[in-house]
Amino acid sequence: MDYVGHVIRPPSEAYSMIIQVTVGCSHNQCTFCGTYKEQKFYFKDLATIRRDIDEMSSMYRFEKAFLADGDVLILPTETILEIMAYLKKKSPSVVRIGVYGNTKAIIKKTPEELAALKAAGLGIVYQGIESGNREVLRRIRKGAFPHRQLEAALKIKEAGMLLSQTVLLGIGGTELSEEHAIDTGKHLGEMSPDYAGALTVMLLPNTGLYRDYAEGKFVLPDKFGMLNELRLMIINMKVKSRCFFTSNHASNYLPIRASFPGERHKVIALLEEVIRRGDEKLLKPEHMRAL
Ligand code: SF4
Repeated sequence: MDYVGHVIRPPSEAYSMIIQVTVGCSHNQCTFCGTYKEQKFYFKDLATIRRDIDEMSSMYRFEKAFLADGDVLILPTETILEIMAYLKKKSPSVVRIGVYGNTKAIIKKTPEELAALKAAGLGIVYQGIESGNREVLRRIRKGAFPHRQLEAALKIKEAGMLLSQTVLLGIGGTELSEEHAIDTGKHLGEMSPDYAGALTVMLLPNTGLYRDYAEGKFVLPDKFGMLNELRLMIINMKVKSRCFFTSNHASNYLPIRASFPGERHKVIALLEEVIRRGDEKLLKPEHMRAL
């Protein structure tokens, strides 16, 4: 396989055929993200992509595929359609293809383009939200404010694709902790994705956020501060349709998997109890956290 640099994929795509179509991220400015810092964004040539699809298809009968890296939707729709058509021809058992969807890239697609992608097999889009608070999004240079994220989310849902979103606990620092948690909960409720995942910030040495932290300009909430954010977020997350919520990523202190709205109050009660007890033994040890 012609994998260049770090090839990342959502945890739920662990058993998918991973085909690297682009390298890096076209935005590459988020202050917390170190994944592609040294990597220039580019589109791999079609011959290489086809070779990778051939190789993967000969190895295993995959049911799902994921087109990496950070921003495949930025490519012309015809190019993505061509790649997906080849993939489905070589691996007819693949019933769902997924991509990461940068907000700007989603908005650029017309409803007709999104419908064509859906018809060709694009079944799920993973959108990194990080926060629903405008000031937090400005500070972390996410490149998209809440109203644009909402616009993109609705486009994906209207096209009939599954929408999976992630947010980041702690990304507002102690200064904006409450605003971040409350606004993010409301934002997720408004967008009501099919899947929502809360990760916890980890400070990576090659990032701007780390430099701010080292200079004392950014203070990370402590473990229970993170859990309090999660609590506030869920209290405000009044989804309009079923949403499977997780905070079981390796970066999180307390694993949660729940179906909202049904189990929302149960999760809030659990978080309140863990925060009340203040017992670190109930949380994942620091050395076991990872990205
Ligand atoms: S978080 Fe996503 S959009 Fe931001 S720089 Fe990293 S890969 Fe790109």
